[in-house]
Amino acid sequence: MKAESSNKINILLIFLALVIIGYLGYQNYTLNQTKIALEIELENTKQDFVSTTEKLSSDIEAFRDLLITTQGEKITAEQDALRRQELLDGMANTLGLYQKLANTDRELLAKYSKIYFLNELYTPKLSITIPTQYTLEPEKEKMISVEVWPFLRQMLDDAVSANIDLKIISAFRSFDTQNTLKSAYKVTFGSNANTFSADQGYSEHQLGTTVDFTTTKLGANNLTFEKTPEYKWLTENAYKYGFILSYPKGNAYYIFEPWHWRFVGKGLALRLYNEGKNFYDLSQRDINEYLLTIFNQ
Ligand SMILES: [Zn+2]
Repeated sequence: MKAESSNKINILLIFLALVIIGYLGYQNYTLNQTKIALEIELENTKQDFVSTTEKLSSDIEAFRDLLITTQGEKITAEQDALRRQELLDGMANTLGLYQKLANTDRELLAKYSKIYFLNELYTPKLSITIPTQYTLEPEKEKMISVEVWPFLRQMLDDAVSANIDLKIISAFRSFDTQNTLKSAYKVTFGSNANTFSADQGYSEHQLGTTVDFTTTKLGANNLTFEKTPEYKWLTENAYKYGFILSYPKGNAYYIFEPWHWRFVGKGLALRLYNEGKNFYDLSQRDINEYLLTIFNQ
C-alpha cells in the first residue's frame, strides 16, 4: 500500500514537473517571440531613424546650396548695381569737368602750354588792383587775375607773419607793355632775347597770373634778389600757395629769373616741388592733368 501510494506521488510529481517544464517552456517561447518582435521593431525604428536623418541631411544640404546660390546672386546683383552707380558717377564727373572747362578762361588754360602764344588782344577776364601795402611803388597800379589773387594774398600775408618782406614790382602786363620791354631786352641781351623763351617769359605776365618780387631794401633794382631771405622763403614755401619759379637756375629756356613767380595751382606746384622739376620739363599731357583744378583751394 505504501509502495502504491508512493508510485502515485511519483507520477503526480513527474506530471507536475512536466506541467511546470511545459509552462516554463511556453513562457520562454513567448518571451523569445516578444524579444524577436521587439528586436525587429527596434531595427525598423533604427532604419527609419537613419533614413529620416539622411533625408534631413540632404534637405539641409539642398537648402544650403540654395542659400549659397541666392547669396551669390545677391552679391552679383549688388556688384552690378555698384558698377552702374560708378559708371553714372564717372559720367557725372566727366560732365562736371566739361562744364567747368567751358566756364574757364580758354586762353588762360591754353597758355599753360609749351607751344601756345597769347594773342595781343588777350587780357585776363577779371583782374583786380593789388592793395598798395603789397607793392613797391604805391603810385603805380599793379593788377592781378581775380582768381589768382586769394592765393597770392595768402602767400604775402604768411610771408609778413614770417618776417619776410616781399614787395611786388611787376604783375599783369598788357601785350603793348610787354613789347616795349622786350625791345629793351633785345638791346641788352641781343638776338638771344628774341627767342621762343623770351616771348614765353613775357607773356606769362600778360596772363595776369605772374608777379615779379623785390624787397623794400632792394627797391627797383632786384637783380640780387637771389641772395635775399625772401628768395629763400619763396623757394621753400611758394608751392604751398600754387606758385612756382618759371625760370630756375640752369633751365634750358631762359635766363635765371629768381624774382619771377607764376601761379600754376597747388596741385601742379606741389608735384614740381616734390619731383624737383621745372614747369617746362613736364610733358603737355602732364600739365593738362592739372588745368581743370588749377583754382581749387
Ligand atoms: Zn617777370
